[in-house]
Amino acid sequence: MTTKTNTATAEQHDSMFDAVLARLDVAAKIYGLSNEIANILRSPQKQVKVSLPIMMDNGKQEVFEGFRTIHSTILGPSKGGIRYATDVCDDEVKALSAWMTFKCAVANLPYGGAKGGIKCDPRKMSVGELERLTKAYTVAMADVFGVDKDIPAPDMGTSGREMAWLLDAFNKVHRGDFPGVVTGKPVGLGGSLGRDAATGRGVMVATLAALSKMKLDPKKVTAAVQGFGNVGSHAARLLSEQGITVCAIGDHTATFWNEKGIDIQSALRYVKENGGILKGFTGAVEIKNTELLTANVDVLVPAALQNVITEEIAHSIKAKLIVEGANGPTTPEADAILQEKKIIVVPDILANGGGVTVSYFEWVQNKYGYYWTEEEVNKKHDASMNLAFESVWNNGQQYKTTMRIGAYITAMKKVEFGIKAKGVY
Ligand code: GLU
Repeated sequence: MTTKTNTATAEQHDSMFDAVLARLDVAAKIYGLSNEIANILRSPQKQVKVSLPIMMDNGKQEVFEGFRTIHSTILGPSKGGIRYATDVCDDEVKALSAWMTFKCAVANLPYGGAKGGIKCDPRKMSVGELERLTKAYTVAMADVFGVDKDIPAPDMGTSGREMAWLLDAFNKVHRGDFPGVVTGKPVGLGGSLGRDAATGRGVMVATLAALSKMKLDPKKVTAAVQGFGNVGSHAARLLSEQGITVCAIGDHTATFWNEKGIDIQSALRYVKENGGILKGFTGAVEIKNTELLTANVDVLVPAALQNVITEEIAHSIKAKLIVEGANGPTTPEADAILQEKKIIVVPDILANGGGVTVSYFEWVQNKYGYYWTEEEVNKKHDASMNLAFESVWNNGQQYKTTMRIGAYITAMKKVEFGIKAKGVY
């Protein structure tokens, strides 16, 4: 039974790193990247796997698997989140770490890419168990992490709470105070204002930039947002604040549709009052999760899970624009169909780069010991996102390709420069 489950998981995630390689190969060919450099990008620099025995509340011990993959440190210390989920495995972490390298390069950040994770179900664990697990993971990774070495952040299943625990454990091992070793911390511990909403804000800025290229007025545009967590809820709110009619929202518990637009503020209130879930919301009619993806709207924002836009779904998508809030929501097979249908896709490594951009600002503020206002953070964020959007758009046009491949080329040029300038011995 166990073997069977593990095999299925490995197969599924093999294809996730394959999805990275598929795009990398296309971009390398179009751009003309040498095979030597492409080979460096195909191979993560370092992969660390640890076993974490934890004392559970019931007095029994359980062993958890923890991962951290450093894909690249060519352009600076590696950066990337830590996810807690039941399907975390080598391949998933590897794929996500490579995307961080490209994401940071696209966003013009002086960082390489990494990703970490623990295979666990955080929804079924107590606060105490999660704290012990996070601290055990940090102690095990104490030589991997470092302010100028490898800087974690939140991802699926983690938030500022886990980052505060991580900081505490790291500080204790290294006997000092190192706020810059982790980003996405609570503001009271050196976190940055604007960090919580940053990924959703980046999705909003990227959406407006794309609509302007498409000569569409945001006030006449409808949208569907999949995911109502840290990315989706802020994205839905900020899109609606820009005058976009958000007709569909959904999370892992329920999906809703309202042709006239959903009152996002009331959905946010509902979620806050009902344990963080949308199930039971009454401001719209309930639909199926897949119906959100194929809904009759102008803009689709997948901001939940990977691999949701498959070949089959892609055929039925009616949106003209897809803005990827999640990491890897579209399969390579679906890319081809979306391209054929002339649907513009603002790819994950550009669209959700707002989070790591404000992580960078947090790290800068920690190093500086001087903190900015939310307005200042947002202003710098918006300018950075718009700049990244323009370079991806221009590379897409120059190489007569999609924005996704344009984004890979944008990143590739920077990493190629770094590898050549530093030299290989
Ligand atoms: N986990 C987020 C991402 O996938 C943020 C990473 C970071 O801020 O380092 O982009």
